[in-house]
Amino acid sequence: MNTSRFDFLVIGSGLAGLTYALRAARHGRVCVLTKGEVTDSNTSWAQGGIAAAVGEADSWELHEQDTLIAGAGLCDEQAVRFLVQQAPEAIRWLIELGARFDFDGNDLALGREGGHSRNRIVHHADKTGWEIERTVVAAVRQTANIEVFQHAYVTQLLMSDGRCVGAEARLGDDNEPRQMLANAVMLATGGCGRMYQHTTNPRVATADGIGLGSAVGARVENMEFMQFHPTTLFHPQMRSFLITEAVRGAGGTLRNHLGRRFMYDYDPRLELAPRDVVARAIEAEMKKHGTWCVYLDMTHLRPELIRHEFPTIHEKLASIGLEIEKDWIPVVPAQHYSCGGVVTDLNGQTTVPGLYAAGEVASTGVHGANRLASNSLLEALVFAVSAAEASAGDRVEIGGLEKKNVHCISEAESIRIRRALQRTMTNEAGIVRTFHGLEEAKQAIDGLIEEYHSLPETPFSQHPHETLNLMLAARYVVDGALSRDRNVGLHFNSDLEAKS
Ligand SMILES: Cc1cc2nc3c(=O)[nH]c(=O)nc-3n(C[C@H](O)[C@H](O)[C@H](O)COP(=O)(O)OP(=O)(O)OC[C@H]3O[C@@H](n4cnc5c(N)ncnc54)[C@H](O)[C@@H]3O)c2cc1C
Repeated sequence: MNTSRFDFLVIGSGLAGLTYALRAARHGRVCVLTKGEVTDSNTSWAQGGIAAAVGEADSWELHEQDTLIAGAGLCDEQAVRFLVQQAPEAIRWLIELGARFDFDGNDLALGREGGHSRNRIVHHADKTGWEIERTVVAAVRQTANIEVFQHAYVTQLLMSDGRCVGAEARLGDDNEPRQMLANAVMLATGGCGRMYQHTTNPRVATADGIGLGSAVGARVENMEFMQFHPTTLFHPQMRSFLITEAVRGAGGTLRNHLGRRFMYDYDPRLELAPRDVVARAIEAEMKKHGTWCVYLDMTHLRPELIRHEFPTIHEKLASIGLEIEKDWIPVVPAQHYSCGGVVTDLNGQTTVPGLYAAGEVASTGVHGANRLASNSLLEALVFAVSAAEASAGDRVEIGGLEKKNVHCISEAESIRIRRALQRTMTNEAGIVRTFHGLEEAKQAIDGLIEEYHSLPETPFSQHPHETLNLMLAARYVVDGALSRDRNVGLHFNSDLEAKS
């Protein structure tokens, strides 16, 4: 097999992966493997912004306090302090690289989001992720020490003498197998939203990092803390498109299919209750009436306000024939963010020597049981920087490699199995869970994994491999949820409701 040797190997080209690549390139040659185009990532879709205490009336102590409150007592306090203290420097670095954040005169324009006690959201209109991804990709293209391989799907991590020393990947349309070896390996594969029927995450979010990491013994935790966004577009021809909270902030109301403003039945704060409360209310309303969605009504708002404040939403919905000045928007909650993942320390070091992780795939401890809005881009950047510094001196003599067979099945079977998984996870391990439902989900997933391995082996293709990773990650979600004996943060089991 074709083998190449680098100093650093990065898997993933979102903010975490490319930040690590840029910083590690100061110390040696870097290889970046990414399974789609370089910009295919959750990072590119981030809307709101990136949190940092850079305003005059703000401090890292307040940012820390807000993060700890959101995390509902389960944050790692040392990790949170590290994150918030590094935040202003992270913003400075992005600006130096060329990120065009919005300014108000000489100062950064700072937005406010739920759970933040100060204005501290640095942004680029409602396309912050796109701007950040553009910035780091441009910087990577100008760095001679970094080689990026697009359409390079990593199938397994390679171990030698108990240390992670590289990865095996399939490159290009003909799936050419390649081995990339390095002194340090950065796992920056992002999220796992595709295990649910509805998700804001793009196609690449298939939990590969959880599958890759756990296969070599990396510890995984807190996967049950799955964040759902209450309002994403429900439309057969369009992937779950996020309708920002700001719409409800501006006076948008939620109605069921009969036109009733149902939030009156659930919470006195109505549509402005916290995200998880609104998501649970929508789900309960849909289950009560057996409907596929509820509706977001903006028809009573001034048309000029709608067009001025929400141009992207206005344009997107117009493209599918919805006039939001006149029509209610069909919405449904969708998986949005995974708080847990591969366990890391402050240096991004996993429990496997030589293997680092950063970004959404990692569990640094900063989110605890719930993520504070706009802390995730920050986390991806801050821990990728510390991992690059920690791994700068890693040197390794590579001996014999330990490898496993990669079992693939036909795409048609993979599609069927993935759909069954998504149904199970949405119904039994979504916003509201029960012990019985979780037990059923566990059995169903085990059955699907068994079925997968019993199907005839086919030549390599990516879809089945991703499906297997989704199933392995789903098992962590279900096991984590079953092990919780109280409701906390994003985990809600209605059997435990009375006790909480
Ligand atoms: C719609 C939306 C809005 C959001 N808004 C915000 C916001 O306003 N503020 C905020 O802080 N966060 C927000 N988030 C969350 C945030 O965008 C992500 O948590 C963050 O970008 C994750 O970065 P990452 O580098 O870890 O992963 P990603 O950006 O997802 O990158 C992962 C990379 O890994 C690659 N990859 C995966 N598996 C493999 C494999 N097997 N082989 C090779 N490559 C692989 C992918 O192709 C991709 O390049 C939002 C997310 C979404 C989806």
